Amino acid sequence: MLVFKFGGASVKDAAGIINLGKVVENYTDDQLLIVVSAMGKTTNALEKLTKAYFNQTEDVHDIYEEIKQYHYHILSEVFDSNAAIFDEVANTFVEIDWMLEDEPQDDYDFIYDQIVSVGELVSTRIVNAYLNKIGLKSQWLDVRGYIHTDNTYREGVVQWAKTKESIMKGIPALLEKSIVITQGFLGGTSENFTTTLGREGSDYTASILASCLGAESVTTWKDVPGILNADPKLFKDTIKFDELPYSEAIEMTYYGASVIHPKTIKPLQNAKIPLLVKPFNDPTAPGTVIKENGHDHYAKPIIILKQNQVLLSLSAKDYAFISETHLSEIFNLFAQSHVKINMMQTSALSFTACFDEDEERFKKLLQAVSENFKAKYNNNLSLLTTRHYTPESLKKLTEGKVTLLEQISRNTAQMVIR
Ligand code: ASP
Ligand code: MG
Repeated sequence: MLVFKFGGASVKDAAGIINLGKVVENYTDDQLLIVVSAMGKTTNALEKLTKAYFNQTEDVHDIYEEIKQYHYHILSEVFDSNAAIFDEVANTFVEIDWMLEDEPQDDYDFIYDQIVSVGELVSTRIVNAYLNKIGLKSQWLDVRGYIHTDNTYREGVVQWAKTKESIMKGIPALLEKSIVITQGFLGGTSENFTTTLGREGSDYTASILASCLGAESVTTWKDVPGILNADPKLFKDTIKFDELPYSEAIEMTYYGASVIHPKTIKPLQNAKIPLLVKPFNDPTAPGTVIKENGHDHYAKPIIILKQNQVLLSLSAKDYAFISETHLSEIFNLFAQSHVKINMMQTSALSFTACFDEDEERFKKLLQAVSENFKAKYNNNLSLLTTRHYTPESLKKLTEGKVTLLEQISRNTAQMVIR
């Protein structure tokens, strides 16, 4: 049994959906569970919609209309105008039509999940209808009834025992009959509310499903030939790895390599299920295999650039030394604001941390820390991480850049740069 994951870029337009069909056609001998993300940049657009709705700005309707039209345009290119999928998609959007009519009552993170999840609900409807149209028997599955999370909205914590039980009870029988298409990124609470698993969480979904079902492998189909040593959109002369050990993939994602969601590897490693990263426009190419004892020889340093970083420095209001008591208070406030630290350093009088800029969460954090600390920050920074670096490679990477914070260990060099 195989698990496939198709990300937003692979289904961003009609050609993408048609190509997905061609990829899947090569695997009709296998039992296949397919996880699909929202199409193209839909999640970003839905985030914008959530913000507009939460703040009750005038553009709510326009943003929403644009999202709908984007999907209807793709539908019109792939299906006949009387196909049932047009109504199915319209009915799926109705889930949030109702919500948008009223003023927001709930917490931002809760509203976010209820709105943003529609991207995956719609994309999976469309892909499922397309596979059936081309004669590949497939059925649509609502993953929210199988992946159970707590009610940490925007970062649902998977309840593994219950999840495994639901998955094993329901999914194997379905896979015997046909391909199963389901949503990445989503979960459900015990009160049947929708949660999301964190941005780019569809890989994690594939990994949860694969590990519970004991799949042979997971394949994530991407717009790159496999895992490269750096993002080809940002760096020249990248190389592809044929194999990587799980441990290196975990390190890479921890430092922000966006090719795989950070939570993806662990469940696969525990169950010894290989993860294949393959190009969707060249399906027979070997891609990269992440597995136990994968090669750990690195012909070039691995470079990970995380943009949109904030560097926040805190010092005690009475100029006291930064003590363990201060640190424990600071960490608590970070945890409560759901801000994850990418890099940090303490000195006699200050604590400095670098993290992704998320407007709402940062606002919350800043307010909380300002009560007992003096806070100074810079934003619009980048965090550059190099694994298996050489002195020359570091020199080349930081030429002409201002380094605000630096940490170098045996295998990993990290710099916050402007
Ligand atoms: N659609 C979601 C996102 O863009 C989940 C994913 O793509 O994996 O974050
Ligand atoms: Mg996506």
